[in-house]
Amino acid sequence: MRYGIFSDVHSNLEALGAVIKAYEPESIDKYLCIGDSVGYAANPNECIAKIRALETISVAGNHDWASINLFSLDNLNQLARQAILWTKNCLNLESMALLEGFNLVYKDEYLTLVHGSLDRPQEFQYTYNSEDAWATFNILETKLCFIGHSHIPGIFIRDITDNIRYLEEPSIEIKEYNNYIINVGSVGQPRDGNPKAAFCIYDTDTGVIEIKRVAYNVEETRNKIINAGLPRRLGDRLLIGE
Ligand code: ZN
Repeated sequence: MRYGIFSDVHSNLEALGAVIKAYEPESIDKYLCIGDSVGYAANPNECIAKIRALETISVAGNHDWASINLFSLDNLNQLARQAILWTKNCLNLESMALLEGFNLVYKDEYLTLVHGSLDRPQEFQYTYNSEDAWATFNILETKLCFIGHSHIPGIFIRDITDNIRYLEEPSIEIKEYNNYIINVGSVGQPRDGNPKAAFCIYDTDTGVIEIKRVAYNVEETRNKIINAGLPRRLGDRLLIGE
């Protein structure tokens, strides 16, 4: 089985289009999305339609929930809040129905998906360090947990002695006795200083997990954000990946 796993599209249609194209030669059997399909950029309905067309299984992110009134705007910073208010006005009924159907956690025989942390997933806590990772490892029932939310790709590894390491490698081969939390980064708003869209492939036969990057038309996305009346900063930050 080859999974295509991505997160934090944030209404960025150009980035999502580039990622879908990059997945095409990869023989993906199943697509998984770790939340935040909307918020920040100017094409929420178009992104949701594309994600749906891939028959993607999706969990909810804080922006998904905020845009359908399931998560308080008080939890968001000023820029995020402005974008969610804009998004709420823009979402069609079909998109809203899809967002309402997202669960907070997905689990199958190979992996678990959660937007921020398995510990109280409805609070969308960040997993930045070993202590944060521990909260998820502690209750993880599968070998692997894929997350998003911080928009920074990276891998936490817990070994058999309960030691936790953090790696920023573009690929890793999973080992029998370890557990892993893999942050797949962000399709639509990378924050690791690399403006290219991030996406992940997990091959259950080889045990290899790859986090790949693909360039897209950032200028076009930025122009759409500005022309839509969204905060200019949301367009500018895409140019430098922050
Ligand atoms: Zn996000």
